[in-house]
Amino acid sequence: MNIIAIMQPMGVYYKDEPMRELDVALTGLGFKLIYPQDSADLLKLIEHNARICGVIFDWDQLSMELCTEINDLNEYLPLYAFINTTSSMDVSLNEMRMALYFFEYTLDAAEDIAQRIRQYTDEYIDAITPPLTKALFTYVKEGKYTFCTPGHMAGTAFLKSPVGTLFYDFFGANTLKADVSISVTELGSLLDHTGPHLEAEEYIARTFNAEQSYMVTNGTSTANKIVGMYSAPAGSTVLIDRNCHKSLAHLLMMTNIVPIYLRPVRNAYGILGGIPQREFSRESIALKIAQTANASWPVHAVITNSTYDGLLYNTDYIKQTLDVPSIHFDSAWVPYTNFHPIYAGKSGMSGERIPGKVIYETQSTHKLLAAFSQASMIHIKGDYNEGTFNEAYMMHTTTSPNYSIVASMETAAAMLRGNPGRRLITRSVERALHFRKEVMRLREESDGWFFDIWQPEEIDEAECWPLNPDDNWHGFGETDRDHIFLDPIKVTILTPGMDEKGALAKTGIPAALVAKFLDERGVVVEKTGPYNLLFLFSIGIDKTKAMSLLRGLTEFKRSFDLNLRVGNMLPDLYAEDPDFYRNMRIQDLAQGIHRLMQQHDLPRLMLRAFDTLPEMKMTPYEMFQHQVRGNVETCELDQLIGKVSATMILPYPPGVPVVMPGEMITEESRAVLEFLLMLCSIGSHYPGFETDIHGAKLTEEGRYLVSVFKPS
Ligand SMILES: *Cc1c(COP(=O)(O)O)cnc(C)c1O
Repeated sequence: MNIIAIMQPMGVYYKDEPMRELDVALTGLGFKLIYPQDSADLLKLIEHNARICGVIFDWDQLSMELCTEINDLNEYLPLYAFINTTSSMDVSLNEMRMALYFFEYTLDAAEDIAQRIRQYTDEYIDAITPPLTKALFTYVKEGKYTFCTPGHMAGTAFLKSPVGTLFYDFFGANTLKADVSISVTELGSLLDHTGPHLEAEEYIARTFNAEQSYMVTNGTSTANKIVGMYSAPAGSTVLIDRNCHKSLAHLLMMTNIVPIYLRPVRNAYGILGGIPQREFSRESIALKIAQTANASWPVHAVITNSTYDGLLYNTDYIKQTLDVPSIHFDSAWVPYTNFHPIYAGKSGMSGERIPGKVIYETQSTHKLLAAFSQASMIHIKGDYNEGTFNEAYMMHTTTSPNYSIVASMETAAAMLRGNPGRRLITRSVERALHFRKEVMRLREESDGWFFDIWQPEEIDEAECWPLNPDDNWHGFGETDRDHIFLDPIKVTILTPGMDEKGALAKTGIPAALVAKFLDERGVVVEKTGPYNLLFLFSIGIDKTKAMSLLRGLTEFKRSFDLNLRVGNMLPDLYAEDPDFYRNMRIQDLAQGIHRLMQQHDLPRLMLRAFDTLPEMKMTPYEMFQHQVRGNVETCELDQLIGKVSATMILPYPPGVPVVMPGEMITEESRAVLEFLLMLCSIGSHYPGFETDIHGAKLTEEGRYLVSVFKPS
């Protein structure tokens, strides 16, 4: 980080010459100097160049206004004002808070000034680097010899082997040097919460508006288990979002607790609409307890916030209403909610603590922020037992954590601080909004069909749009007012073929075709439904990426309207079965799959499948114990009725479990099986479109096998 921007003073010799000297001196110290043309140019440079670490300007020629504008971009950036003896120096308190330093125009002072600028730059770097990351950088720079793990010894072991050297060169020296042993005492300990690791936790807690935060190096999959193990003793009952991540199904298999489920609604697109307010009422919970063997009043609740499709709850309502002492918001998808006002009141950590309740929020830092994979955080607000919680934490944490993961999540937090952080999130919200508007504009201009977006009619401003009962766009009918909101950065694109009520049109373009087309052009879709595609506008999405997605969509339309051959339009798909696709054209393929969806009446079957839950014959824990004892056998998927499933069955998409371990599909819940069989059937007609069902094994002959309980 070594770029300094210099605003050249208007040509007067007594100012020019000291600047020329300073240029030489700063260059000698390794700085790179750039000369913006005017204030607007300077601001743009700062906005687009995170490496700029200082601005030099003339105090008389550039007003305080400029300082304020720079401050809005980055309040930590050092500003160097040059003055002469007559400059007026009435600096207000506000300006004193800026990193603003004054120098006089004098000859032969450049060396001195350059040294001071070097020092202020170092202070700037020090100020923006969070504690553990700083300690790790320092440790790596010191280059100590260690006689401990890891065995690659800062990478040197790799260099003793040809293939190891290839590996070393690929990952680079610092990646390997930063992979250090827990024996390095100056870095403190993740498990003991000491030294720079403790400082990092405190730093993260302050950043995310939590009372305490824990850093988890094995994803939110692990974070969720830690929270669950601490919160629910054996024999207790837990309220779990049926739309839960599989890590929560695993929690239920690991610990002997009784689940009762919060049931989200679903629309015809296959989008989950979140859990309606009635599900959170005491009456609803009491009814479920009465219907469930061994259930008692729940001690803990887990709610997915946001859903995969980007729906966020009014969390204030849930925290106030839900009568359980401990509430966990699984926010793996939304680690950024604390950094933009549109998310206020929609996250676990927003607002004050709730008397008598403890609130947890788990986040996959790596999913939408800048951190290495597996970086995850647990945030807590409320009273809990630290010692016991830490046992649960250690139970799931390796004794050899990867410090690069830890430092990356701390850096992700640092990136979100102050004005630079606010700007980062604002930009991705605005980019998503702009993209939404562009698609709508293309739709208006388009002759014939074009893609649509799942959003309200009016999207003038960035906000989390409520799914209100008087709106039709969301397709959930009678929703609760001000309860559930759509996050603007989760963009669901709709393809033609189905309306929001689930009525299938005469013709349609199944989304899987678009996903394959985009994939072959290097644009990877996050999730593909029957007639919808999900795209995430995270902070790494820049204008060029958004443009290439738009281009991909318009190219798809053009090729589709020209009715190109599948072989030309989707070469990778063609390669999967050239005989099958030999003369097929894209519109025939689209119509063929669309017709299958019509034959099976997919929207209605999907709705019915999630209408009735299968029957819980034993808890997931009991079922897993049977599995460990070998009391399981396989059966064909279509033979599942009347048998207890040993594992979770989860078609992807939508990626939500339809059967949990220990559950049985009965005549009442037959629609669940019919839905699964329909997915298999649709997938089997066209090579390359096989359905992915977690928990079911696809054999070479195209049969799906599942594992079920075998009574001994
Ligand atoms: C991805 C995800 C997880 C697991 O997070 P990882 O960081 O991948 O382990 C947990 N919950 C939800 C809702 C998720 O989407």
